[in-house]
Order: sequence, then C-alpha cells, then structure tokens
Amino acid sequence: MPDKKPVIEIAVEPEKCAGCLMCAYRCSLRYTGAFNPFKARIKINTTEGNKIEFTEECTKCGLCAEYCLYGALVAKESD
Ligand code: SF4
Ligand code: SF4
Repeated sequence: MPDKKPVIEIAVEPEKCAGCLMCAYRCSLRYTGAFNPFKARIKINTTEGNKIEFTEECTKCGLCAEYCLYGALVAKESD
C-alpha cells in the first residue's frame, strides 16, 4: 500500500554531501526492497563535484533526508 505522507520539499546542500549513499540505500530499501543505491530515487554523483538529483519517481517522502547525517538533505513541509 503506498504511503500517504504529506508532500514535502527537500532542500539540497551538495557541498555538505559526504557521498556515504545512506540516503540512496534507505530509499531503495523502502521502494524496491533491495539495498541497492542504483535503484534509489535519489542519485548521488561525487565524481565531478557533488551532485544530488531526484528521479521522477521520487515521492518526496523525506526518508532520505531523515537518514542524511551530514545536513546535505533537509526536508521541509511545503505550504
Ligand atoms: S524523498 Fe523518498 S522517494 Fe524521494 S529520494 Fe528521498 S527517500 Fe526516495
Ligand atoms: S546526501 Fe547525505 S546521506 Fe546522501 S550521500 Fe550525501 S551525505 Fe550521504
């Protein structure tokens, strides 16, 4: 059954990203049942400066932000 959580905005601060991929692991686990960042709805690219992007499937549930220990993802309830 899909989650019915409020839609939120996720502010991104790529300069704080440590590339740990915890966000991607948590997202993939929730939505695909697999612990696989390639299946996540957030894409972290640390090869050319930090780049954080969300796929079109992202539900803005905020789970990834909850697990980002570095403050690179900050979930905010939208107005
Ligand atoms: S907001 Fe939810 S769906 Fe979107 S990337 Fe984060 S955990 Fe995945
Ligand atoms: S956004 Fe946060 S949880 Fe995701 S890779 Fe960067 S530091 Fe880790």
